[in-house]
Amino acid sequence: MSAATANERTNLLGLPKAELDTFVAEMGSKPFRARQLMNWLYKRGEGDIPSMTDLAKDFRAELVQRAEVAVPEIVKTQVASDGTRKWLLSGGNGQAFEMVYIPEEDRGTLCISSQVGCALDCSFCSTAQQGFNRNLTTAEIVGQVWLANRELGWQRGDKRIITNIVFMGMGEPLANFRAVVPAIRIFLDDLGFDISRRRVTLSTSGLVPQIYKLAEEVNCALAVSLHAPNDELRSQLVPINRKHNIAELLEACWHYLDEQNGRSVTFEYVMLDGINDQPEHARELAKLLRDKPAKLNLIPFNPYPGTPYRRSPQAAIEKFRDELMQRGLIVTIRKTRGDDIDAACGQLAGQVTDRTIVRLGSKTFGLQVRA
Ligand code: SAH
Repeated sequence: MSAATANERTNLLGLPKAELDTFVAEMGSKPFRARQLMNWLYKRGEGDIPSMTDLAKDFRAELVQRAEVAVPEIVKTQVASDGTRKWLLSGGNGQAFEMVYIPEEDRGTLCISSQVGCALDCSFCSTAQQGFNRNLTTAEIVGQVWLANRELGWQRGDKRIITNIVFMGMGEPLANFRAVVPAIRIFLDDLGFDISRRRVTLSTSGLVPQIYKLAEEVNCALAVSLHAPNDELRSQLVPINRKHNIAELLEACWHYLDEQNGRSVTFEYVMLDGINDQPEHARELAKLLRDKPAKLNLIPFNPYPGTPYRRSPQAAIEKFRDELMQRGLIVTIRKTRGDDIDAACGQLAGQVTDRTIVRLGSKTFGLQVRA
């Protein structure tokens, strides 16, 4: 069933604690019912209201009438050779969006979408090619994490499978502020997914006024898509820069850290061959961020059909990193994951027309996909 349901029932996955309290109060029940519900939803992973056995019978019966637990429908599942898993999810009306799970030794990261498509039009991003369709609802955003947990089995031994959440799928999260903020609250709440604030990362292309607003609303990690060391180049790659330039953007970032008592902002920098990857760019970038609470994450460009850009050669990426490190910056190179299933950054185009048949594979923990 789609999260945006045709009927009038409230999707419980869209309600942070305060709203769930109100919802329960409107039903004439005590606040502890909201806590019980959150326990079923986020600790026990129960999606079937009649199975929530410690809820009073009358309350449960009424809840079935008024509420539901609905998650986006899975259209396709793919597993890459490195274990990265990508799900294509239906947004109704032929629309689709994607989420990606990236397993690593010490953590499991779920990369989620905030919109179907994107309006920001960054020149190197495949999501931009499809334009903007619509905002996802809070329930659809929380529903991604709930669904991925269900698919992956929530826990392995006493360890959770999804330890980190990043808003680095489709869409610009700060352009869907009203749905994204309550979703983050549910991720962080100890009664919700109870993920630490340093493990929930919002990545933005640089919507400056919304960064100030975010600082007042929630406390999570911030990543910013910088991609260029000067306004001239950044305005070509990330058009929102024409409205909010680098100086304004950096001011907003430092303000965010001050307000949130945060340690650093991660700046993402896509490595485009011959465009922004020259030593002079590294030197300019170092000047911009030296002695600032900043980390740099270099992302090798992931190509997609029709793009005029190429990935910088590995040697150029490493040289770029070294130039920055010599100037005292903290730099990492992002490992490209899941590229054999187009699950890497900027490749999430979400073609719903490609209805690949999915069947269970013989290998454990594996789905095989055939066209
Ligand atoms: N709208 C948000 C989230 C986008 S996706 C933002 O702009 O930050 C997360 C990261 O992937 C962003 O830094 C984005 O610029 C980058 N990205 C987009 N397309 C890419 C591509 N083709 N190759 C590598 N990184 C890409």
